[in-house]
Amino acid sequence: MSITFAPTPALPPMDASVDHAIQDIVAGTSTDATCTTDLAAGPWDFDARPGYGPGSSMGDVIPTGAPRQGELPASYREATEDELDDRVRAAKATLGDRVVVLGHFYQREEVVRHADYVGDSFQLATAAKGRPDAEAIVFCGVHFMAETADLLSGPEQAVILPNLAAGCSMADMADIDQVEDCWEQLAEVLGDLDAVDADGRVPVIPVTYMNSSAAIKGFVGRHGGIVCTSSNAKTVLEWAFERGRRVLFFPDQHLGRNTAKAMGVPLAQMPMWNPRKPFGGSTPEQLDDSRVILWHGFCSVHRRFTVAQIDQARAEHPGVRVIVHPECPMEVVDAADAAGSTEFIRLAIDAASEPTTFAIGTEINLVRRLAAQYPQHEIFCLDPVVCPCSTMYRIHPGYLAWVLEELVAGRTPNRITVSADVADPARVALERMLAAKPPVTAGIR
Ligand code: SF4
Repeated sequence: MSITFAPTPALPPMDASVDHAIQDIVAGTSTDATCTTDLAAGPWDFDARPGYGPGSSMGDVIPTGAPRQGELPASYREATEDELDDRVRAAKATLGDRVVVLGHFYQREEVVRHADYVGDSFQLATAAKGRPDAEAIVFCGVHFMAETADLLSGPEQAVILPNLAAGCSMADMADIDQVEDCWEQLAEVLGDLDAVDADGRVPVIPVTYMNSSAAIKGFVGRHGGIVCTSSNAKTVLEWAFERGRRVLFFPDQHLGRNTAKAMGVPLAQMPMWNPRKPFGGSTPEQLDDSRVILWHGFCSVHRRFTVAQIDQARAEHPGVRVIVHPECPMEVVDAADAAGSTEFIRLAIDAASEPTTFAIGTEINLVRRLAAQYPQHEIFCLDPVVCPCSTMYRIHPGYLAWVLEELVAGRTPNRITVSADVADPARVALERMLAAKPPVTAGIR
């Protein structure tokens, strides 16, 4: 599988900084709006509280067992942006090739500028695999991403998540107990889930989005299932339909629905599975007639985008090209000009040879960075309110400086390790995805 990475400029433009934009709003020097002025505080102000912190996931319910981050020492909390920038650079220079820093597309600019690789979750996990020389992999993303990097990296390599409170509210919407319970209930309705019919297909194939815990990936691996990304969901669903009469898709209902709909699956054959209701809230007949059973999960970042925003963009910017992520609701994807993964969005902009106006429906840190990197185009976020992913936003440069300086001191903080009983079947599910030879740049429409 060939992977392309977004180039990491030596000095990324800080005018893309969402943090600066929020500070300006709070100071009254910008007329933009933000979803909460609490975003102006450091994430350590929220680490001790049960919740995802300010931002677009703050209304979601955090699992009681979610990791908590210990208090960051004052020398990091009270340092200026420039001081932290210098400390990160100095620690990285000292560590040299012993460390590789990975930055997700949705990370704040103050962190991404220090990343050796920038990309989506799977690109970064693969980048980790390509650096067997690095003793430590510092993953500036969220918890499930660090787990995936641990699955794909060498056993002696330490994967480090700078802030343990950086989870993902969507991934947390499907926990392993709920999924095991769902599987048992489906067996009650569909019979033996390992029984193969005359066409060689089992009743249901579990498919999990990359944005899920290692435990869920392990479940999928144990039950003949597969992992998908937002780049290859169609290829993976085709793989699954060759082996099963239906698919159980989790945790993101929108990626599942948008992809299956584009493949011609009727909406009536996509019942929802709400883990808090018997049989997921569907009737046995609906489950029996289903092609894709959608888990009741969603991304709070992409759920903010609306058809009204698209209508407004088209009214105010004639000729605007609207591209959204497939984690957006179906009606938003339908109203857009195109929908695809973060890498698809980046490549679509990169391919535009004439100055173009783009309205983008994905996380604002990526949108602002694209706008700074492609000044020949007008690029703006469909959502006029500055509201980053609250969980991604937990990775502040203070945490990055802390973990790097801990490594310099010979300590290994915040290591993320997946146990072997989970890791082995999870790798099977990931390897099935790689064997399906999915495209990395195709949009879903
Ligand atoms: S943008 Fe959505 S899916 Fe991605 S980490 Fe944030 S909450 Fe999770």
